[in-house]
Amino acid sequence: MSRATYNRMRHTFRHKMDLKSEWVILHRIAILANIEPVQYDCCINSCIAYLGKYEHHEACPFCTESRYTSKRRPRRIFTYLPLIPRLKAYFQNPEIIQQLSYRHNYKHTPGQFADVFDGSHYCDLLHTPVVIDGVERPYKYFSGERDIAFAIATDGYLLFKRHRSGPSANPMLVQILNLPPQIRTHLRNLLCLGIIPGPKCPKDMASFCVPLDDECAKLAYGVSTFDAIDQACFDLRAYAIQEHGDIVAIERLLGIKGHNGMCPCRSCKTLGVRDITNNGRVYYIPLTTPNVQRQTRPSVDPRALHLRTQEDFDSVLRQIHATETKTARTSLEKRHGIKQLPAFRRVGSLDSAKSYPWEWAHLFCENIIPNLVSLWTGKYKGLDTGSEDYEIDPKIWEQIGLETKKSVAEIPAAFVRVLGNIAEDRSTFTAESWGFWFMYVAPIVLHGRFKKDKYYNHMRALSNIMKTTLKFEITAKEIDNLEEEIIDWVKKYEKYSLSHLYLTRSLISNRYYYQYREDRLSTCVLTIHGLLHIARDIRVSGPMNVTWTFYLERFCGILKMALRSRSQPWSNLSKRNLHVAYLNQISIKYQLDKDPSATDYRGDELRRNEVKYSGCK
Ligand SMILES: [Zn+2]
Ligand SMILES: [Zn+2]
Repeated sequence: MSRATYNRMRHTFRHKMDLKSEWVILHRIAILANIEPVQYDCCINSCIAYLGKYEHHEACPFCTESRYTSKRRPRRIFTYLPLIPRLKAYFQNPEIIQQLSYRHNYKHTPGQFADVFDGSHYCDLLHTPVVIDGVERPYKYFSGERDIAFAIATDGYLLFKRHRSGPSANPMLVQILNLPPQIRTHLRNLLCLGIIPGPKCPKDMASFCVPLDDECAKLAYGVSTFDAIDQACFDLRAYAIQEHGDIVAIERLLGIKGHNGMCPCRSCKTLGVRDITNNGRVYYIPLTTPNVQRQTRPSVDPRALHLRTQEDFDSVLRQIHATETKTARTSLEKRHGIKQLPAFRRVGSLDSAKSYPWEWAHLFCENIIPNLVSLWTGKYKGLDTGSEDYEIDPKIWEQIGLETKKSVAEIPAAFVRVLGNIAEDRSTFTAESWGFWFMYVAPIVLHGRFKKDKYYNHMRALSNIMKTTLKFEITAKEIDNLEEEIIDWVKKYEKYSLSHLYLTRSLISNRYYYQYREDRLSTCVLTIHGLLHIARDIRVSGPMNVTWTFYLERFCGILKMALRSRSQPWSNLSKRNLHVAYLNQISIKYQLDKDPSATDYRGDELRRNEVKYSGCK
């Protein structure tokens, strides 16, 4: 309800009820919720927050815009909602205390991966002393029954329309991993600590993370908290063990140079290759080096990738710190792909090499699948098909579009929302649409549509890989098999081979997309390489369905619906987020059955093109 509507209602019914002004009500709600937002100055273009090393700066070091107005007021504000009071409030609600005990009661079965608590990173932490600012504490991670594990998530999203140049925002979310997986990603259980304002993605995201990093340190020391069941105080400890987000956000949080760089992968030290002949500046990351003499990087064995470790990160950062000239520093940064300390660095529970799993939705649904479709429709970075013939005839593709649209018309909405004509308009395809289409629709509508069946078989193999990665429970043996299937898939994606068939004396080509050609390096993007790390990530962090970020997308969508102001979208969003946090906190503290924030207000309401059949439960 808008303020004007509220005031009109207040005026109309003034003879029947005494409604307080919006300001008074909000003030009372704020007192009840006991959440104190903290405001920090940030750059008008949101390059940095004036925190940490920028605390005393008067102007932004990236865009040189001044910090203050002529009246010495900050030009833009980042509102941060502290995490500690919100975690403490959980222990005032006996029902939530029970739910939080899921972590402590979880029984890990060796060789079985069903949750983050089966991942080796968490299991190793159980035997590791807590480290804060490099100093060891006399207790181990998660030694307390009530210790909380959480994941930090961030992702950039566009505010108004699907236009890459439009203004964006980056919400900073916390997912409480102690809660059972069935309710962990419900909107009321996600804590949004702040929305990093746009218009663009921050240049130094770490500066916005300083308040949370400091809170992580306080939580690792322990915060005195009252427990409503025991009716006594205890030291609440909480540790971040994972970070979720899109590829760019993770690169910024990790402090690495990332995609397009010489050492682009966050998980391994494989060097990239650029198109030297055409003076290409972007580095790609194929396994097999292009088949020309001037390319000197040796080809890479996918079974022996040189994985990064926390010690590697620390050692490179020490070397960079010790350099005396800018040239030497730049050269080191380029060679190792690391440029600065990670955003969250005070507590040792986050490991730069293990806490940043590759994420399902961004990897498959927003990169690999759309790229494959672009290849099949001849719209991939201006490339032709090389010496191959994997493109689908436009008329057949149009038919596939119609079949796609028709195929989902009667599938219950719980499985997938309405899909448009993929041949006419791909912009309506969300990550969820791409995922469903590729796993369940594409194997049918693409059958017999390629000029050669090998492309179809290759596509089916990826579809099966995706299904395996989504298993709720996956065994060590299945992960080993998955690893081999992925290696086979990536090798084929790159493949170029000619074999001579002696009987018919003809040449049989067995080539796919990259064909080991220097001018086709752009097919070997980082996301294809990222596939090679999935199996290890499951072993370290748990199955992909507990580390994916669909919840983040959903949260952004809900937040976007509440957006009213086009001139001040970020303060509008921050205010909305604060009000949701107030109501959420009140519902937790006072044990209200239903979340009064009603963020999921759509409920059972049918969406456009959805039908409810009579007799359907
Ligand atoms: Zn700036
Ligand atoms: Zn890698």
